[in-house]
Amino acid sequence: MAKVILPDGTVIEAPEGSTVQDFALKIGPGLARVAIAAEINGELADISTPVNGEVNLKIITARDEQGLDIIRHSCGHIMAEAICSIWPEAKLVYGPTVRDGFYYDIGLAQAITPEDFSKIEAKMKEIIKADKPFERIELSRQDALGRVSGSEYKTDNVERAQGDVLSFYSQGDFEDLCRGPHVPSTKKIDPKAIKIMSVAGAYWHGDASKQMLQRVYGTAWTSKKDLNAYLTRLEEAKKRDHRVLGKQMELFSFHNEGPGFAFLHPKGMVIWNETIDYWRSVHKKYEYGEIKTPIILDEGLWKKSGHWDNYKENMYFTSVDETNYAIKPMNCPGGLLVYKANKHSYREFPIRMAELGLVHRYEASGQLHGLVRVRQFTQDDAHIFCMPDQIESEIIGVIELVQELYSAFGFKDYHIELSTKPEKHIGSDEIWDTATGALRRALEAKGLDFQINEGDGAFYGPKIDFHIEDCLQRSWQLGTIQLDFSMPERFELVYTDKDNTEKTPVMIHRAILGSLERFMGILIEHYGGAMPLWLAPEQVRVLPISDKTADYGNQINDALKAAGFRSSLDLSPEKIGAKIAKAHGEKVGYMLVAGPQEAETGTVSVRMRGCKDNKTVKIDEFIAIAKQKIADKAVELEF
Ligand SMILES: [Zn+2]
Ligand SMILES: [Zn+2]
Repeated sequence: MAKVILPDGTVIEAPEGSTVQDFALKIGPGLARVAIAAEINGELADISTPVNGEVNLKIITARDEQGLDIIRHSCGHIMAEAICSIWPEAKLVYGPTVRDGFYYDIGLAQAITPEDFSKIEAKMKEIIKADKPFERIELSRQDALGRVSGSEYKTDNVERAQGDVLSFYSQGDFEDLCRGPHVPSTKKIDPKAIKIMSVAGAYWHGDASKQMLQRVYGTAWTSKKDLNAYLTRLEEAKKRDHRVLGKQMELFSFHNEGPGFAFLHPKGMVIWNETIDYWRSVHKKYEYGEIKTPIILDEGLWKKSGHWDNYKENMYFTSVDETNYAIKPMNCPGGLLVYKANKHSYREFPIRMAELGLVHRYEASGQLHGLVRVRQFTQDDAHIFCMPDQIESEIIGVIELVQELYSAFGFKDYHIELSTKPEKHIGSDEIWDTATGALRRALEAKGLDFQINEGDGAFYGPKIDFHIEDCLQRSWQLGTIQLDFSMPERFELVYTDKDNTEKTPVMIHRAILGSLERFMGILIEHYGGAMPLWLAPEQVRVLPISDKTADYGNQINDALKAAGFRSSLDLSPEKIGAKIAKAHGEKVGYMLVAGPQEAETGTVSVRMRGCKDNKTVKIDEFIAIAKQKIADKAVELEF
């Protein structure tokens, strides 16, 4: 008998060779209906796979993340069939899943345009309704090559595929080379929950010297409701696009004279400086010293640090007085030189050195994206030098700093990943165990959930990554804490230990906000430009109803400025309704309407951004309330 062990420990038996589907039926007909694939001993498989001997089995349904991925991948095959039936001369290249969907690269002389999408979708729906089973066949590499002969792309795919046995999947007459697994039949896909999204040019193998293909993107969900929610999220993201808001709000610009380098305007600098002021105050509290190191440094330094061998293609260079220099892509070597400038004793440890370091990293122009992907940015870097037995408490300190910073900016949801020793690494197993254990214990001490990425650490040490989630449930990796067993030795860093011998210190690299430019882009999108009061470029605008109250308006504006607010006065001849609408559009926090009645009583009528109600309060009272909002870093403006 074949025996399967389910995730909850339940054991089920059936005759040898029974398929996963047979086992699903034994568990329950409901499950058998929704089963779309399986995990057998940790490996994904079709539900038609026969089971022999004893295995661990997990039935995958559309509710599982892997299930949705399999649906999308199957949908990729269906889209490929649809395209081939519309354009029989189309050549299929490669069709993986991506976040929220899938794509297929197509070789076709005729351009596929958005006008063709509904035609492709209609054909896909036909294929889905035809209920064609996905069937797997396995061939030797030799036979697989024979089967795809004549197709340049598929021959290339077979040659690149690993293993001696290759698989093909067919649905009806359509066949494609594929590892699988797939849903059992095309009908398992909800025809109302699919959509072709876009088409773009893509070079074969991403190589600009190779031919240009057409990459058709699609999406698939488990229900029409999920598809619609996704489309709404996309719409919302478009409205919040920081590139659009940045222009509208006059925060920053980009120019051909410096591709990938952001130009920050006065209003953008307000957000920038408030962020940095706060960052500095928190670092002071956590006892960091701040340093500043040059951006242009001798080429030899980068050879020593290893950047020359591993990162050269991403670096900028210059030469002066016949000496070659590199523009720093990272701050670490500069920080190491600061450490080496003095002798150090264990008594000074831990030494925490923070640097808002300006770095340059070359990115292909196609990768650039507003502030989020740039070629020049400021990293909120720091390096901590300590002894091995101080690692855990130092990591705890960094985690607390991370929590304090993220929550101040309104990010409450984040997830954490711990990456451990990779196959290729330097340093003894002992130091890896000590360091990884310290990272793990620090996370546990703070009661944090974390995911372990086994073998995913850098070759020079384990690390912790922090990913925040924005209001559109998009995840952004921001912070990282990285242990380094390599640099201190490369740079011969030492300290004098208790026993008077010289030892190599432990080095921790850490960044919390990551790139400040990127963080600003994320903030703008997270808040849709409506920044919390403490970050808002314009916090208050005074709106006199007419010329008659212009003087009173002026008095209020002066009082606000004296109290430290970023305020302005709108003396334009517009009607009050138009003034309010304009201030709303410019995302001003508070609008203070000043009419004759307010002038008489020393009050203001307060309108809050995003709110329709007015509240009349004395000017001193308003100042006290708004000051408290700033001190609390409050996101809500209402009072
Ligand atoms: Zn496939
Ligand atoms: Zn570093």
